[in-house]
Amino acid sequence: MTARIIDGKIIAADLRTQVAREVERVKRDHGLTPGLAVVLVGNDPASEVYVRSKHTQTQAAGMASFEHKLPADVAQDDLLALVAKLNKDPAVHGILVQLPLPKGLETEVVINAIDPAKDVDGLHPHNAGRLAGGQPALAPCTPLGCIILSKTVHGSLEGLNAIVIGRSNLVGRPLVQLLLNENATVTIAHSRSRDLAALTARADLVYAAVGRPEMVKRDWIKPGATVIDVGINRIPTAEGKTRLVGDVAYAEVAEVAGAITPVPGGVGQMTVACLLVNTLRAACAIAGLPKPAV
Ligand code: NDP
Repeated sequence: MTARIIDGKIIAADLRTQVAREVERVKRDHGLTPGLAVVLVGNDPASEVYVRSKHTQTQAAGMASFEHKLPADVAQDDLLALVAKLNKDPAVHGILVQLPLPKGLETEVVINAIDPAKDVDGLHPHNAGRLAGGQPALAPCTPLGCIILSKTVHGSLEGLNAIVIGRSNLVGRPLVQLLLNENATVTIAHSRSRDLAALTARADLVYAAVGRPEMVKRDWIKPGATVIDVGINRIPTAEGKTRLVGDVAYAEVAEVAGAITPVPGGVGQMTVACLLVNTLRAACAIAGLPKPAV
C-alpha cells in the first residue's frame, strides 16, 4: 500500500478546536454566543444519530444548541411556522433542517423558507447562487470538508485537474464551485458520463460522491492522485451483519493513489466540524463582526 491516509478524525478534531477558540473569543470580546438550531422531523434512526452528534459537538465547541423534534406526520405549515420562528430568534444564528424529510413534506419549500443568513447547510438558492457566482456564501458542509482535506495534502489546489463524480445539490455541484474558487480545473461526471474510467485517470484530485459501493477501481486512478471518498454505503457481510464502505474500492485504490480518505474516518468526520464553522461564520456576519479566523 502506497497511499498516505488522510485522517479525517484528526483533521476534524483540529478544526473543532479552532472553532472553540474563536467561539471563546467572540463570547469574551463581543458577548456573542453562536447558536445552532437543528430541526428533526420523524424518527429515521440514521438522522437521529446525526442530530445527536451535531448537538454534542455544538455544545463542546461552546455554542448554544437548540433541538426541535417534530412528528413525521407534522403539517408542512407547522414546520414552516417553526422555521419562521427560528428565523426571527436572535439567539439562533444557524438553522439546519435534517434531511431527508418524511414523505409528504416538500424539501425545496422548507429549505427556501430558511433565512439565507442562517442557512448553515448552504442549500438555499441564495447561497447556492452566490457560490456559483464566486461570491462569499455559506457553502454546504460536506464539500467544504472535502476542500479542507485536499488542502492538507496539496496546500494549494491551483492548476490541479479535479474530477467530481456526482452532481447532487448537496455534494457534487457545490464541490465543483468550491474547486473552481480554488483555481482547480474541474470535470463533473454523473450517471450519463461516458468512459468514467478514462476521465478519472486524468485527474490529480478524485472526488467520489455517488452512493455506489466501491465503484471507483484501481485502474481508474492516476498513480499518485489524491482520492477523496464521500460515499457512505452499508453493505452486508458474510456473517450476516453490515459494514460501511465508500464509493471507492479502498484497498486496491490505496495501492496506486498518493493519498486517500478512509470510510469511515474520512469525509464524514469533517461534515459536522464544517457545520460548526458555518454557524460561527453566520453568527459573526449577522452580528456585523469581521469574518472569524477559521
Ligand atoms: P445523490 O444520490 O443525490 O447523487 C448521486 C450522484 O451520483 C448523482 O449525480 C448521479 O448522477 C451520480 N451517479 C449515480 N450513479 C452513477 C454512476 N454509475 N456513474 C457516475 N455517476 C453516478 O447522492 P449524494 O450526493 O447525496 O450522496 C452521494 C454519496 O455521498 C452517498 O453515498 C451519500 O451517503 C454520501 N454522503 C456522505 C456525506 C458525508 O458526510 N460523508 C454527506 C452527504 C452524502 P445523476 O445526476 O446523473 O443521477
